[in-house]
Amino acid sequence: MNIIFLGAPGAGKGTQAEIIADKYNIPTISTGNIIREALKNGTEMGLKAKAFIEAGQLVPDEVVIGIIKERLAKGDCENGFILDGFPRTIPQAEALDSMGIVIDKVVDIDVPDEAIAERMTGRRVCPDCGASYHLINKKPVKEGICDSCGATLVQRKDDAPETVADRLKVYHDQTEPLKGYYDGTGKLRTVEGLGSVADITAKVVKALED
Ligand code: AMP
Repeated sequence: MNIIFLGAPGAGKGTQAEIIADKYNIPTISTGNIIREALKNGTEMGLKAKAFIEAGQLVPDEVVIGIIKERLAKGDCENGFILDGFPRTIPQAEALDSMGIVIDKVVDIDVPDEAIAERMTGRRVCPDCGASYHLINKKPVKEGICDSCGATLVQRKDDAPETVADRLKVYHDQTEPLKGYYDGTGKLRTVEGLGSVADITAKVVKALED
């Protein structure tokens, strides 16, 4: 099954994508993670993306379309995949179509802006292993320290309050129109993204089977 997770940044797409990927035994592909990894490794693509990502702006379409083309060509995508954070613009969705990729379901995780802002500004991540925590909802055992590898947790630059406001604006202006794009194909399912992770997962599974 080829699945897209839509929704504002911080709506919980990543968490759900990981859970569903495990359940269906297919890879989850997060353009945000791929870009952050490139940034960390100082590759040419990472350098190109740096200013955009730190300002909460979208990385240019041709860069992310290139990333996705390369990733989807790998063998592990043969039995399906989950796209988390791609497409984020209409031209990106059109690029998928023109690559001949058939999408089975598009799950939109819907969370009000105020809840998103609270989640994102409270998020803390491990710079070494990538594990994600939250000051209120998912505290590490020892404050400020990664449970998995012991590194000191940091706030992503793009999770700072002023950048979060910009990211939400970018989402409403450029990504939300994708709902209309996919609604027209009959593949869009909307899931309310408030509540426990388990409850939301149950709704996502139902939406995928429906
Ligand atoms: P995420 O972790 O998915 O919120 O992505 C973090 C940042 O990576 C975004 O704010 C963008 O700057 C960039 N990014 C990730 N995916 C895309 C995409 N599909 N199109 C453009 N920029 C993206």
